[in-house]
Amino acid sequence: MNNLKILQKYIETKYRTGLKTEEQLRNFQNARITKHMQFVLQHSVFYKNMYQPYMNEVSSQQWEQLPIIDKKIMMEHFDSLNTAGITKEQAFQVAFEAERTRNFSPTIHNITIGLSSGTSGNRGLFLVSKEERYLWAGSILAKVLPASILNKQKIAFFLRANSNLYETTKNKRISFHFFDLLDYFETHIKRLNEIRPTILIAPPSMLRKIAEWKEEGHIHIAPKKVISVAEVLEDLDKEYMQSVFGQVVHQIYQCTEGFLATTCKQGTLHMNEDLVYIDKEYVDKGRGVFIPIITDFSRKTQPIVRYRLNDLLIEKKQPCSCGSPFLALERIDGRCDDVFIGREKTTAKEISLFPDFIRRAVMLAAADIEEFKVIQHPNLFIEVKLKIKRDDNRLSIENAVGEELYRLWRDAGCEKPTIFYSEYAILPSEKKLKRIERILS
Ligand SMILES: [Zn+2]
Repeated sequence: MNNLKILQKYIETKYRTGLKTEEQLRNFQNARITKHMQFVLQHSVFYKNMYQPYMNEVSSQQWEQLPIIDKKIMMEHFDSLNTAGITKEQAFQVAFEAERTRNFSPTIHNITIGLSSGTSGNRGLFLVSKEERYLWAGSILAKVLPASILNKQKIAFFLRANSNLYETTKNKRISFHFFDLLDYFETHIKRLNEIRPTILIAPPSMLRKIAEWKEEGHIHIAPKKVISVAEVLEDLDKEYMQSVFGQVVHQIYQCTEGFLATTCKQGTLHMNEDLVYIDKEYVDKGRGVFIPIITDFSRKTQPIVRYRLNDLLIEKKQPCSCGSPFLALERIDGRCDDVFIGREKTTAKEISLFPDFIRRAVMLAAADIEEFKVIQHPNLFIEVKLKIKRDDNRLSIENAVGEELYRLWRDAGCEKPTIFYSEYAILPSEKKLKRIERILS
């Protein structure tokens, strides 16, 4: 643990001036990427080979002309892409052993191995050096802490424990209390009451549960800042938590690939364009829906350059009133894999229905819905789970949701889908909660 390194990054991120306009931001990014490219082209055999025919584009800073990679390509070329000389086989072995024994410090020569979620055979491996861990902690603290680093903070962090990435920050002023999502609820309640965190960071499904405990009088905490991570924050959950905690619920959008976005004072999500460069691959330009292609300026162990994520984001049409030149988002829509499929009536062609449509259809149907989950199964049947305030009007609310979904499919020119309803019995757990999910197989 190296407090100085974290502090350095903290100050650099927090007090970075001169990024007020779009032009300043672009110049800053170009300088960072150029410097980073020199390192990548020298040390990563994979990128060096791939970019060989693109040296003109590299020297003229036309990053958007460079080839794109994704998780699949990264995993295929894992051994030659990383600059630490670690093989995929070695890394998997260490990561699986750590998962099995729930030892969260899987490392090879001081490089932390992280395993990203995904179906078996589709899991990603991530390598982070000690130095990069400090940078990560410093920039997160800078973006997340409500006041100066000199104020005392007790941070409660609920996460799936799959690497020691999150155990970096502990000093006299900032204490970092790690909560394993697998622990019993009683344990969480007891610890929360003991610690009384000033900052609460958790997936929204867990935050919602904590808000319920607070409302029911089981816990007595008054955090100064509440931050949602790791799952898509739905407006429904956000509004409930904001009413219980009496404050804006903030968001961190971060994944194994990088620390990508944080909310400003206004509660608007802004991409961290001082840390990553983002290209947009539009899937619906009119509505501003895009897939981000990211380039991290500082990851050297496993360079993430022109890497397409599996996420759908929606950009904000109007600039945020906070004045930040960083790209403002309307919301994180969901995973690309969770786009629902409709069958076009005459041609049977597959039509994409974005999570945002599904979400809005449910929300339009009835005000009495407390929680929901909509699943599309491999046979394209749709399963709807609703938690409703008063159960006596369940049937009419289910029908209303069904009608909204039928309308959505009809407006898209699709065949009427088969919808069925089942009990809502979902509790926060190790598994990420997706309110809109497509099961592929
Ligand atoms: Zn803003």
